[in-house]
Amino acid sequence: MNVPLLDLKPQTKFFREKILTALTEVIDSTQYILGPVVQEFEQSVANYCGVDHGIGVSSGTDALLISLMALDIGPGDLVLTTPYTFFATMGSIMRVGARPVFVDIKPDSMNIDPQLVAMALEKDRQGDSKIKAIIPVHLFGQCADMSEMMTIANKYNIYVIEDAAQAIGSACPVAEKGETIWKKAGSMGDVGCFSFFPSKNLGGIGDGGMVTTNDEKLAERLRSFRNHGAKPKYYHSFIGGNFRLDPVQAAVLAVKLPYLNDWHKKRQENRNTYDKLFLEAGLTEAAIDLPSAVFASKPEAATKNHHIYNQYVIKTEKRDELRAFLLDNNVGCEVYYPLCLHQQECLRPYGYNKQSLPVAEKAAKQSLALPIYPELVYEQQQYVVAMISKFIQAG
Ligand SMILES: *Cc1c(COP(=O)(O)O)cnc(C)c1O
Repeated sequence: MNVPLLDLKPQTKFFREKILTALTEVIDSTQYILGPVVQEFEQSVANYCGVDHGIGVSSGTDALLISLMALDIGPGDLVLTTPYTFFATMGSIMRVGARPVFVDIKPDSMNIDPQLVAMALEKDRQGDSKIKAIIPVHLFGQCADMSEMMTIANKYNIYVIEDAAQAIGSACPVAEKGETIWKKAGSMGDVGCFSFFPSKNLGGIGDGGMVTTNDEKLAERLRSFRNHGAKPKYYHSFIGGNFRLDPVQAAVLAVKLPYLNDWHKKRQENRNTYDKLFLEAGLTEAAIDLPSAVFASKPEAATKNHHIYNQYVIKTEKRDELRAFLLDNNVGCEVYYPLCLHQQECLRPYGYNKQSLPVAEKAAKQSLALPIYPELVYEQQQYVVAMISKFIQAG
């Protein structure tokens, strides 16, 4: 049996005609930069996420970049974030001339630890108060502890830029005015950053991204920043760039968006199937650390899509051996991420490698993502678990 980590072919086959029609419309319209197709898709994503504004951009990376630019974060500023995420989270901070401050993650969700965030801010405020923003990442499709994060952010008056690149449609409970309400990723911070990279739950046929916000002035600024800071045309009050979402991508993504919740549901069902199969195989936490969703046991969780499983990640001490064994047996798997950001070569001149972030470093050694895509069938999951079981029993 062959189980790829991700197979886009069934989805592509299903949408083939609809996508071709949508693309033909874009081609015939001759409106190739922004225009109504992009605008409509922006509004659809904003509605889906429960925010007022969506600003279509060229990628998730550029969503982060123009968010930092529009919030005036630059040289001399510090931005708190997690060391355990895709490179772009940190790369965009460096690219605007600011510097990241890394704090460790929680072992269960692998998301940034709010307690450590609070400690870092306390220390910063007793010193030279350089931390201007935090970028929490909703890793693998599960929201960071946003209730605590927002409380901390409000207390210390810093911006919150949600890196929701892996988490479109995920949600979490947030305490607001004495009530607990469920909020979607990208609707809690000052801005939310999304990616439509083909391997995300909502993926284009190339690069694309979106910034979401409830702040009308900021939305206007972001729109201007994605278009060289021009307003009106050829009059530039600040320096932006070309970060526009292509109507070709918007047209494809608009076809797919109505199916997104179904895909999330199928990914969640696949997660449940894994749980059941692992249990049946006797693979408990002693042998293999199964993904533990922070809110998984709560009854609301199932109905509220809290975790959209962009990735399903297990942890094991013999990760590299297991990975090799699975690949040998035609089971696709991948390490997200093998090296923490503070240990990256490009940050060496800044001395970040002297920092020790043990939880993140351990996660980088032990994490392994298994296939979880919506079209995965039961027999394939059975095969994945059988292979892991075989590997563990062989000792
Ligand atoms: C994918 C991803 C990005 C970058 O998105 P692109 O569209 O590939 O530029 C940023 N942050 C995280 C956490 C991601 O997973």
